[in-house]
Amino acid sequence: MGKCDICGKNGKNLTLLGTNHKELGHIKVCSDCWEKLYDKNKFVGGSTSSSGSCPTCG
Ligand SMILES: [Zn+2]
Repeated sequence: MGKCDICGKNGKNLTLLGTNHKELGHIKVCSDCWEKLYDKNKFVGGSTSSSGSCPTCG
């Protein structure tokens, strides 16, 4: 059980992805919101090459 910290969506078949948001810290989001946040480069670290900060020590 869980719900998306961005849009509040919840449900059995919802896939939640844990991530570090630049402003909100560690959140769980649905795949829809994940894509939106990813597009806006809202994640700390991650696989984008331009980010530059380490998710563990940064
Ligand atoms: Zn969502």
